[in-house]
Amino acid sequence: MSDFDYDLFVIGGGSGGVRAARIAAETGARVAIAEEYRYGGTCVIRGCVPKKLMVYASRFSEAFEDAAGYGWSVGKPEFSWPVLRRNIHAELDRLEGIYRRNLANASVKVLDGRATVVDGNTVEMDGQRITAGHILIAVGGTPFVPNIPGREHVMVSNDIFLMEEMPASIAIVGGGYIACEFASILNGLGVKVDVIYRSEQILRGFDREVRDHVAGEMEKKGVRIVTDCDVEQIEKTDTGVRLEFESGDSAEYSAVLYATGRVPNTHDLGLDDAGVETGKGGAIRVDDWSRTTVDTIYAVGDVTDRVALTPVAIREGQAFAQTVFGNDPTQADYDLIPTAVFTQPEIGTVGISEDHAHNYGEVDIYCTTFRSMNHVIADRDERMLMKLIVARSDGKVLGCHIVGDAAGEMIQLAGIAIKMGATKADFDRTVAVHPTAAEELVTLK
Ligand code: FAD
Ligand code: NDP
Repeated sequence: MSDFDYDLFVIGGGSGGVRAARIAAETGARVAIAEEYRYGGTCVIRGCVPKKLMVYASRFSEAFEDAAGYGWSVGKPEFSWPVLRRNIHAELDRLEGIYRRNLANASVKVLDGRATVVDGNTVEMDGQRITAGHILIAVGGTPFVPNIPGREHVMVSNDIFLMEEMPASIAIVGGGYIACEFASILNGLGVKVDVIYRSEQILRGFDREVRDHVAGEMEKKGVRIVTDCDVEQIEKTDTGVRLEFESGDSAEYSAVLYATGRVPNTHDLGLDDAGVETGKGGAIRVDDWSRTTVDTIYAVGDVTDRVALTPVAIREGQAFAQTVFGNDPTQADYDLIPTAVFTQPEIGTVGISEDHAHNYGEVDIYCTTFRSMNHVIADRDERMLMKLIVARSDGKVLGCHIVGDAAGEMIQLAGIAIKMGATKADFDRTVAVHPTAAEELVTLK
């Protein structure tokens, strides 16, 4: 028995922290976890889960329109945000309960409150010191809003899920995952949406053709995308907010959402005094084992600013617990991570983009756009895109990009094949599933 109160103290009850706590406890380690807000963390409480439920809700507006082509008459549909908000929050309560129960069932001591680091073996909570053989920092990140005059009038993604009422119009500043997803969601729920992006095309980092295609399709659905546009200041008005742009123009909206990235929650965490080094933007520096500059302190998930996705935080938490408590040294694998952006239409992507292909020798590009069957008699002007990037030397598929209905579902499966090293010939010899949209992936010429 060690002299410490616990073998492991986890700070942060989100995706990475919860997984690490449970796996470590299953090895017999004595584990405590502290959460200052709600168990489940960003993903469950104010990220992936409520966002995806809003995505489902927002898709009904088109489904009602499309139904007519299939012979249905639907009365004038009406949307109630209070009903959706209540149902979403009931689901979040249920999920939080499951997280708490799973931790308790694994014999993890579940604590509510903010914890800070004192030294390599000590944390502080409610003025009390608690010791542990190891400390895992899994405190995630928080929305970043640039320091412009009037920033107190903006909403961030956390606020969306708590809004009292739907705004009639909204400016969404940013062009990344969150800006684009909420643009599609709110547009689908009947809000007039302008995306205000500082550079020349949204979704930097994604394949160029994908970015152009999605932007075009979003605009067809009614989202206005204003590029090369910087906000200078924001003023409150009687009916909402006024944005003054650097160009000298201005525009009024009912609300403004800033989705301009996230920063690690390392502020006032006691890291400097404990000797835990941070880098750009306050992200905790870690090695390939998620170990910080203090031997007994590890960090996983968004706080390390590696790849800010839930499944990655979970993998990092799992690898840490297996390595330190499971006698099974494991590193998280960052190669070929599939990802989806839940815009409308949706993006699914894995591997390299055409823009980066020049780093991988000569490649062949296979790309098609087409109107999928379900849109034809619904008379919906929307096109899907499918693209493979293939190494000319050995035929390996290096990248796969899909835009359209269920792209996230498709990319999960294409990701397995590509992770296994599938070649274009392997795709081609796989018999198509007909009639589907996904069959285009195995018939690309
Ligand atoms: P978190 O889940 O953020 O957990 C950290 C926890 O630590 C929080 O609960 C916080 O309250 C707590 N905490 C912080 N400081 C302390 C302290 N001092 N003491 C005690 N507790 C503390 N990823 C996807 O893969 N797919 C998606 O569709 C997706 N959608 C997203 C949508 C939105 C709107 C957002 C914001 C994010 C989304 N993400 C998505 C990203 C994903 O949510 C994060 O990558 C993931 O939650 C990171 O997990 P984590 O464990 O590092 O941190
Ligand atoms: P992103 O980093 O994806 O996007 C931030 C956006 O804000 C970029 O368009 C960026 O522009 C812009 N921006 C940054 N600083 C400023 C500024 N000072 N003024 C104006 N614009 C600015 O961050 P998000 O907040 O959208 O999402 C955070 C992370 O969460 C994502 O990267 C992703 O890892 C994760 N996430 C995953 C989701 C999923 O899996 N579906 C969904 C939501 C989030 P520029 O491109 O020019 O830098």
